[in-house]
Amino acid sequence: VGIVFGPVPSRRLGRSLGIDVLPPADKMCTLNCVYCQVGRTQVRTIKRGLPLDSALINRAIDEALPREELDVVTFSGTGEPTLHQHLGQFIGRVKGLCETPVAVLTNSTLIDKPDVRRDLALADIVVPSLDAATQGAFERVNRPHPTLLVDRMIEGLVAFRKEFSGKLFLEIMLVKGVNDDMAELVALKAAAERIAPDLIHLNTVTRPPAESDAQPLSPQEMARAAAMLGPKAVPVGAATGAAASEAAADLAETIAELVQRRGVTVEDLIRSLGADRPTVQRVLEQLIEQRRVKKIVHGGVSYYREFY
Ligand code: SF4
Repeated sequence: VGIVFGPVPSRRLGRSLGIDVLPPADKMCTLNCVYCQVGRTQVRTIKRGLPLDSALINRAIDEALPREELDVVTFSGTGEPTLHQHLGQFIGRVKGLCETPVAVLTNSTLIDKPDVRRDLALADIVVPSLDAATQGAFERVNRPHPTLLVDRMIEGLVAFRKEFSGKLFLEIMLVKGVNDDMAELVALKAAAERIAPDLIHLNTVTRPPAESDAQPLSPQEMARAAAMLGPKAVPVGAATGAAASEAAADLAETIAELVQRRGVTVEDLIRSLGADRPTVQRVLEQLIEQRRVKKIVHGGVSYYREFY
């Protein structure tokens, strides 16, 4: 499982080809969120650099694109993509190869830096996260690098909105009892009014989190929080019914494609597809039953491969 993954069905952006510009082995991020589905951060840093060889990333992009039937190409993955100082060049490379809109998912921690804003402004869609608007809640939910201040992030987001003419979807992840109290929602609302995003995606913990005590809000609590945050706030919880089965079918095809190239572990699939463990396991079981995938145990680790 490599730099380019998918296409994966994204509830928010449609059929998305993912690009991960960070090393797969050690999770690198500016934060260590309690709800992170990738697991705990191993390298917590705020320093932009070259964590993964740019030539490798360029080659992976050139091999993957152009490609039909994509709604979006999304820079996201196992950590914070703005940590790679060539992010702007990678976005430019994708745009030179196809007309598919480019999105970046970012945790906003470096958006106070003009060079990061310049890179992000090359995308068509930016989905920045802001889970808290007070320093205390920010530290509880996001467990940031010690130098990070949420006020600076908010000012960076306000500045970015003024410089960026594309779509801005602010993402707020609420964790029960951590950042969902009334005072925090009032502060988030005030920050969101200044940032003026096109929409606010309101999310809660629907995938197995880094810390097992990170609990979701109920649908009623989510609806109340959305009402509190105003008309731009839309809850984007777990897909249900037809949407969910369609997403599972897409996921099965993606996994079947991935195991053709080499043996992968459940962890590889969770990390690269952004899907939760029970879903990945359920889809793998179906694929084994259909004799499209087989399981091999090697050195005590289970790998999944193409059946033949
Ligand atoms: S949820 Fe995103 S921002 Fe938070 S630790 Fe995980 S990768 Fe980093």
